[in-house]
Amino acid sequence: MTQLNAHYLKLQGSYLFSTIAKRVRAYKEAHPQANVISLGIGDVSQPLVPAVVDAMKQAALEMGQAETFHGYGPEQGYAFLRESIATHDYQARNIDIAADEIFVSDGAKSDVANFQELFAQVSVVALQDPVYPVYLDTNVMAGRTDVFANGRYGKIIYLPCTEQTNFAPQLPAGHADIIYLCSPNNPTGAALTKAQLQEWVDYARAHKSVILFDSAYEAYITDPTLPHSIYEIPGANEVAVEFRSFSKTAGFTGTRCAYTVVPKGLQVYDETGHPHALNALWLRRQTTKFNGVPYVIQRAAQAVYSPQGQAQIKAVIALYQQNAQLILRALTQAGLVAFGGQNAPYIWLKTPQGMASWDFFEQLLNQAQVVGTPGVGFGLCGEGFFRLTAFNTPTLTQEAAQRLTRLVI
Ligand code: PLP
Repeated sequence: MTQLNAHYLKLQGSYLFSTIAKRVRAYKEAHPQANVISLGIGDVSQPLVPAVVDAMKQAALEMGQAETFHGYGPEQGYAFLRESIATHDYQARNIDIAADEIFVSDGAKSDVANFQELFAQVSVVALQDPVYPVYLDTNVMAGRTDVFANGRYGKIIYLPCTEQTNFAPQLPAGHADIIYLCSPNNPTGAALTKAQLQEWVDYARAHKSVILFDSAYEAYITDPTLPHSIYEIPGANEVAVEFRSFSKTAGFTGTRCAYTVVPKGLQVYDETGHPHALNALWLRRQTTKFNGVPYVIQRAAQAVYSPQGQAQIKAVIALYQQNAQLILRALTQAGLVAFGGQNAPYIWLKTPQGMASWDFFEQLLNQAQVVGTPGVGFGLCGEGFFRLTAFNTPTLTQEAAQRLTRLVI
């Protein structure tokens, strides 16, 4: 008899997006003429930029010639990409990160999901509520939680991100070993300030904890005072891992390329308190379990850093940022209170009169034929909130925004 990993049985079904799809389908069947627009999608609508496509074509041609063919590459990524990342995303901003601290991967989702493997099962996990579900579910799978009861898993430290805290997580009273922070945040759109991040770095140093910092949306920051990287905070190189992605920065959701930064000064401890460098352990993990990102894709990612690539991706990001502004303005006109959208592609609106997230979902679908994501789907603290995204096309976003202004609340 093969026994399964019983921790998988603790997982809650991920009904959120399937329930949304089911309800939208039912609505369309009942209203065949309705033109339903989704502001719920987390995927991008704009194609890859020309500089990236040209680099892919060129690399594909190289792959067809014996002299320039590439087979297995280095598991942690080609030097040309790791150096481009270190130079442009870090050193150009006076951040002390070198190419050998960067690990190229096929997505921030897999990295952020896999990284917890390096920590002991007894480690105490703290995460934001509402939360990007991958942080939570992968720790459930690894056995770091008790069963799910009353909307929460035992042993997890939930950090409520509410209107009262400006959607920022507050330091826990007790000890956490692994701390997941996502800034700019999915789903709330809130971005942490340098002072707020400094508190977390100080906490992690005092507690010998590790911060897993997900900055998949850093390219959407418009406020020049906000940090794009946790390594802008003094001391962070000793306590933080950073996850970044080309998905929302350059439309790589279907192309798949991301990277994780593990500074060489970051250490964790064995049972006797002896320190071990996480950089070497993550390299060991990746070389055992991962065989690298395709050469063609890494050349495509490198093209993001060319002058043309930078200009082109910035134009696309600006287009999504304009979508966010349209949505925010429409919500305000409708008399709704909304957050985010300034430094993130997510708008987090407060449902009118404390309406439940799912009731607002129905109201929005019925009145405006617009689809979004109920906040409660991201955690208990998301109840009474609703997420809209800026990733649809400008034309459809404009149409949806016009409908939002006419909402009767
Ligand atoms: N991190 C956050 C917070 C996200 O919202 C997402 C995607 O939606 C990811 C990571 C995954 O990014 P990738 O496409 O690189 O796997």
